[in-house]
Amino acid sequence: MADKPFRVLPKLTPQNEHFWCGGAQGELRFLRCNPCGEYIHPPSPRCPKCLGKDIEISAVSGRAQVATYTLNYQPWVPSSDHPYVIAIVEIEEQPSLRLMTNIVNCPAEEVQIGMAVQVIFEEHEDVHIPVFEPRR
Ligand SMILES: [Zn+2]
Repeated sequence: MADKPFRVLPKLTPQNEHFWCGGAQGELRFLRCNPCGEYIHPPSPRCPKCLGKDIEISAVSGRAQVATYTLNYQPWVPSSDHPYVIAIVEIEEQPSLRLMTNIVNCPAEEVQIGMAVQVIFEEHEDVHIPVFEPRR
């Protein structure tokens, strides 16, 4: 990505570092409950499904589909391209696992609900922001 858009970066903590830094290894990582297999996001010390505490970090494929989206035309920051796409994507391994993200490397007008997308990472120092591009 030639020009990185302005981002307010997250504060890294021991609880969220796997998510924000996994992109350094090209991995989209979530917490996952061992007994029931539920992916957990945002990070939580207990599984919301079975209330278990046996949780570990697990990478997913990075494949997802667009659940919904909107186009932003407001130039909140002068450097970014307009319009840009703000989307909620469903992670392939668990559709209830949803991320608010941007769809990139695609004309905004071509984004559709149900579109197959793949994660890529936008690097800002230690933080790797997961964004999604069309899966080809
Ligand atoms: Zn569980």
